[in-house]
Amino acid sequence: MEISLNNKIYKVIEHPYPHILVDSKKEIHGWFYSKNSGRRECTSERLLINPYNGCSFNCFFCYARSFTIRRFESGNEEIYNKFKNFHVVIVYKDFDKVVAKQLDSIKIASCGYLSPITDPFQPVNEKYKLSEKLIAEFVKRNIPIELVTKGKISDEAINLIKRQEHSFGQISILTLNDELRKKLTNGASTEILLKNFERLADNNIYAVARLDPILPYINDNPQDLRNLVVEVKERGAKHIIASCADILKPIEDKFYDGLSGIDKNLIEKYKALYTENIGYYSNAKIYYRKKLFENLKQICNDEKISFSLCMEFEKTNVKGRETLSGLNRLYSTSLNCEGINVPVYVKRQGNGKFEPLNNCKGNCLTCGNCHLTSELAQAKALRLADYRRFGKIFENKFQNKLI
Ligand code: SF4
Ligand code: SF4
Repeated sequence: MEISLNNKIYKVIEHPYPHILVDSKKEIHGWFYSKNSGRRECTSERLLINPYNGCSFNCFFCYARSFTIRRFESGNEEIYNKFKNFHVVIVYKDFDKVVAKQLDSIKIASCGYLSPITDPFQPVNEKYKLSEKLIAEFVKRNIPIELVTKGKISDEAINLIKRQEHSFGQISILTLNDELRKKLTNGASTEILLKNFERLADNNIYAVARLDPILPYINDNPQDLRNLVVEVKERGAKHIIASCADILKPIEDKFYDGLSGIDKNLIEKYKALYTENIGYYSNAKIYYRKKLFENLKQICNDEKISFSLCMEFEKTNVKGRETLSGLNRLYSTSLNCEGINVPVYVKRQGNGKFEPLNNCKGNCLTCGNCHLTSELAQAKALRLADYRRFGKIFENKFQNKLI
């Protein structure tokens, strides 16, 4: 089987899941939204890394599905139709080497983020080990890296990140009911996810539990949410992040297909609830989301664990103009959304390794005062070129003993 992508033909490798191997020079970069856009809720800067495009865990609610489907050229209808219902994962060949070179070109680094639009521990990773190779490149330079997964974190990954002071893991867990979990995601079983927390805790690695997403009428029962928070805390989680599912309009048919696999009646209920449009997404009505988040914050306060939201906004009207306000201002109980304060790292001249920037808590969005460069305190949508430029500013200040 062959497939066409960007005018090139690729052989589809069937095992362990259909995938193609692609050369790439794509650059690591920061968040897509700046503070000025009104759509930035992430307090800390991150270097986003996607060694794969597409994810065989196939969560029906996942917005990353839209990226994969669009990449196949419409001219190839037969193949497109054959593959559109189960993704072909793109594997970026030797991506660790590409990223290593980029890390060697900067003197200021934020924590790596593995990965925003794919799961780093999905089955193809067992063959290519790009996630572990990438983690090794960060740890070798003493740059922190965080892992976000619905899969099993490998022992190799844990053994690497435990050597780096600010590296940590986020485990996405939606329910304690494994029968329900199977309807939501092909990721790891509930017990394996819970064991992830224990394995991180046993190695003194900070662990975050992501209740992400919470799907109305599916996993939003208040008592179930309380039981979930209690259990993940017991197993080693130190912080909770939640979000309410939103529906990416271009792939809403797939979302509704997934819902009907759980209960056909859900479709009408969702259509009545999902009436708030923010960009390309339909969101659940704000009263529903606020009630959900109020309840979760209360549960986390009761259970003495910190809490934040991920990318939740409400529409507000300022002087007749519609604008967006992040809901973390109402519900977050931590300085940074991931609970842990991870400073920006810098590499001094003559130093082989990076080290934490003094007096930095990594909260660029709310910090307001940066002794390195005011641009970081503006929480822009940073590119690799920005990091290279900041490195020169840092070097200059360091040489002139201003920092
Ligand atoms: S595991 Fe994550 S990236 Fe993979 S399909 Fe599910 S939500 Fe998407
Ligand atoms: S000092 Fe503040 S603005 Fe500067 S890098 Fe640290 S958190 Fe960001």
